[in-house]
Amino acid sequence: IINVEKLNKSFGDLHVLKDIDFEVQEGEVVVLIGASGSGKSTLLRCLNFLEMKDSGDISLHGSLVDSRKDKLNEVRQNIGMVFQHFHLFPHKTVLENIMEAPVQVKKLNKKQAKETAEDLLNKVGLEDKGNVFPSRLSGGQKQRVAIARALAMNPSIMLFDEPTSALDPELVGEVLHTMKTLAKEGMTMVVVTHEMRFAKEVADRVVYMHDGRVVEEGTPEEIFENPKEERTKQFLQSMY
Ligand code: ATP
Ligand code: MG
Repeated sequence: IINVEKLNKSFGDLHVLKDIDFEVQEGEVVVLIGASGSGKSTLLRCLNFLEMKDSGDISLHGSLVDSRKDKLNEVRQNIGMVFQHFHLFPHKTVLENIMEAPVQVKKLNKKQAKETAEDLLNKVGLEDKGNVFPSRLSGGQKQRVAIARALAMNPSIMLFDEPTSALDPELVGEVLHTMKTLAKEGMTMVVVTHEMRFAKEVADRVVYMHDGRVVEEGTPEEIFENPKEERTKQFLQSMY
């Protein structure tokens, strides 16, 4: 469903992604790990064209995305993204936050959008919070709303960039639980996280990045129990 070949990206003199080959199958959960600055966020951002690659090929659903010609907004609509900081609209209620893109972008009528939003709130366990403003929610609740909002566009791929890193430790579990549920339902997911337990339990594949390159990838067992590369071993040791 995602196929990246020889992706390169620089910011000025800084070569951040170096010949990245990266593949995600439909329904697969891929966890991206690596030290700060290794290029994880940049890779995610290239996947939904928030950042433009310098060279290389990105295919989605089997067809090459031509960033000059293709309507990137349409491509982006098909890919949900959840960030470390939730980026909810503060002056809109929870329901309005979730309805915003379906109504504005997909031109869904409000009644339909509201029904979908309510279903999604139910799914993330916040059915009683539809009419409150984000400022009244805990961080974990805000992040679950952000997930519901991304799902409202009915994406075929969800990207998560450290979705629990800004949360108090006691709120991490509820967000991971929501993500786990999504994974079980067969959502295709790419998740950048430092939550190694989540990676072990949920990932089909773990990809370790270092200094702009994919150093090693494999099943959680292969990566965590039996890493081949010295760098992977060092990184994993530093995590505990
Ligand atoms: P972290 O774990 O800290 O989030 P990361 O693996 O997500 O790190 P990136 O955010 O992808 O790393 O950054 C990779 C490198 O690119 C870093 O050195 C960063 O400073 C640089 N970088 C990222 N975005 C930009 C930008 N818009 N302009 C200039 N440099 C950038
Ligand atoms: Mg990052």
